[in-house]
Amino acid sequence: MCLACLVTDYEEGVDARLGFRGSPAEIDRLSKFAIDSTNVCSYTLRMIDAERLASTPPAEIAAEMIRVRREIDERELYWSRLAVAFDASLYWHEEGSNTAIDWMRINCHMTQPAAANRVAVGQQLSRMPESSQAVQTGEIGFAHMTVMARTAIAVGNAFEETALLDKARNLSPGKFHYRCLQYQHSVQPQVYAAEQAEQVEKNKLRLNTAEDGSLLISGVLDPVNGAAVRGALEPLARYSGKDDYRDREQRLADALVEIVTHGGRRNVQLQVTSSIETLLGLVGAQGADMDFSLPISSKTVERWACDCNVTRILMQDSVVIDVGRSRRVISPPMKRALHARDGHCVWPGCERPASWSAGHHLVHWIHGGPTELENLALLCFRHHRMVHEGHWQIAKTDDGQIMTIPPMITFGLPRGPD
Ligand SMILES: [Zn+2]
Ligand SMILES: [Zn+2]
Repeated sequence: MCLACLVTDYEEGVDARLGFRGSPAEIDRLSKFAIDSTNVCSYTLRMIDAERLASTPPAEIAAEMIRVRREIDERELYWSRLAVAFDASLYWHEEGSNTAIDWMRINCHMTQPAAANRVAVGQQLSRMPESSQAVQTGEIGFAHMTVMARTAIAVGNAFEETALLDKARNLSPGKFHYRCLQYQHSVQPQVYAAEQAEQVEKNKLRLNTAEDGSLLISGVLDPVNGAAVRGALEPLARYSGKDDYRDREQRLADALVEIVTHGGRRNVQLQVTSSIETLLGLVGAQGADMDFSLPISSKTVERWACDCNVTRILMQDSVVIDVGRSRRVISPPMKRALHARDGHCVWPGCERPASWSAGHHLVHWIHGGPTELENLALLCFRHHRMVHEGHWQIAKTDDGQIMTIPPMITFGLPRGPD
């Protein structure tokens, strides 16, 4: 749409419903502008729209959104009909595409599932006359239609449009999808069970190591086991305590590590080889060695060594040594006392339970800190990491309060989305 079209719209009063109240003088000015510079319209158009929308009551914007969405949904039905006719034409084959959906993906700038959904709807339209009508009256949306079409394909002759349409009218597309799966189960329990079993067979997990040593993870889990994994990750991926600026993906990644290491306490199966110099963080010391990994920084080794749950070999002049166990190991009775005293991670605002937290030496044993209750505090995986690798400081005041001090240079990031 160019500015000239916009001006025409104004003159016809089409945009009056969005609250534009252009005076004749203003319209005249815009008309002149349009005639003089027809090619500068796109940027100006956005500016005018933003200005106009800013003064439009939200209820009017909301009504307009619903109206336009209904228009789009109707056009989607029309597009679905075209897609089926196109699929049957084999024109896509002459154009050199492997499938009609492939042609749509490239030429109509769509994802493969989006194109496939429309072909499915187009193919099933004759079995969904009432639902098509319901889209036109705005009772359901096109998203309901894709679910309905997929269900019709899945259950074949058992498909009952009227019964499902009643449900669609009262449910969001997401809930309707869930209800349709239940419906599929009710009419074809054996097929449903077989499909679910087949999905499990397709489970995959790919682990690749990037050049910088990072682990790249991708994969697919069937719905049941996928839900189990999400159920375990989601509670751990919530914001924890104050100063948590991680976005959702970062929180999920941290949650995965937290589960695998049980709060950062289970690196036990990995053998870490580190020199005393590395552990002390001395300049010139090499990184520590660990299976499946590039050299590990001294700060990470320091954290692992902190609660003494890591199987490690400290080397000095290539001789395996260890620092006296009694000086560093938190004995079971002391651990119980620590759990009882702190209850959970002591970081302000964090309530990760004691069983998911490690005993942190306020003064590290490598620097002479004693393994005594007074020098210990429970920290969850993330906060333990912030103290060692993140350069935060944690201290206990005389009255037993925990104080946290951020690193010297910090940049306040906006809180990530849920
Ligand atoms: Zn520690
Ligand atoms: Zn914590």
